[in-house]
Amino acid sequence: MKPETCFDARDSGQTNVVLIDSHAHLELEPLVNYVPAIIERALAVGLIGIITVGIDIDDAIAALKIAKEYDMVFASIGFHPHNAKDVHDGSLSQMEELCDNPKVVGYGEIGLDFFRNRSPHDKQLAVFGDQIHLAKMKNKPIIVHLRDAYDEGLAMLEKYGPFPRGGVIHCFSGDESDAHRALDLGFHLSVPGTVTYKKNDNLRSIVAEIPDDRLLLETDCPFLAPEPLRGKDNEPAYIIHTARKVAEIRGVELQALGWLTVNNAINLFNLPL
Ligand SMILES: [Zn+2]
Ligand SMILES: [Zn+2]
Repeated sequence: MKPETCFDARDSGQTNVVLIDSHAHLELEPLVNYVPAIIERALAVGLIGIITVGIDIDDAIAALKIAKEYDMVFASIGFHPHNAKDVHDGSLSQMEELCDNPKVVGYGEIGLDFFRNRSPHDKQLAVFGDQIHLAKMKNKPIIVHLRDAYDEGLAMLEKYGPFPRGGVIHCFSGDESDAHRALDLGFHLSVPGTVTYKKNDNLRSIVAEIPDDRLLLETDCPFLAPEPLRGKDNEPAYIIHTARKVAEIRGVELQALGWLTVNNAINLFNLPL
């Protein structure tokens, strides 16, 4: 994509800033009740794309419905590790069928969450493996969710690689060695609003070092609103605060950071933008 092709889409005072939210949940409460207003505010800060992530069958269908309504919204679908306990062969085939919709640009979020432990670990590991297979079979990049499970999750990815379509560790919260392992696998690292939180020096030092071609931005809305909006329901427009912080950390202009991350998202998810 060339810069001049999308200067007309914003009216924000943020002249020429373009951004993509690579991980949102527009179909979740409460955002699903205000989608038109949320899209309007997103356009106003320069967003040209949003990937909304469906985390079980019903949620995937809801995500696709929104993606069909808006050219700038795309869907990624898969069973979140919280929902692993409910996954069986039939539901996996149902998810597989939904993948054939042209608006599905990625598979996931899939992975391991050993923090909340809403599904047993062995079930989470099995479902993660099955879904990595499925994503590779459907030729989709994968969106990986890892929480308190970087070692186990990266070991799975190392075992199941290579990943010709690539992937992203979303909402990256690992340490430096986790970052290197993910980068060695060819993965992108996606930075959420937590990078603005006061105590997050660890993430800021990693964000400074992510290679230019592997960096993505996300909100994970309605969760994790960045400062100065922490505690509110997050939404894609708030990604501007995350983008400003990441630009500051990396010592680049906001506009340049925007273009970089937009191009990375377009390339990884093959977005028709
Ligand atoms: Zn997640
Ligand atoms: Zn998410």
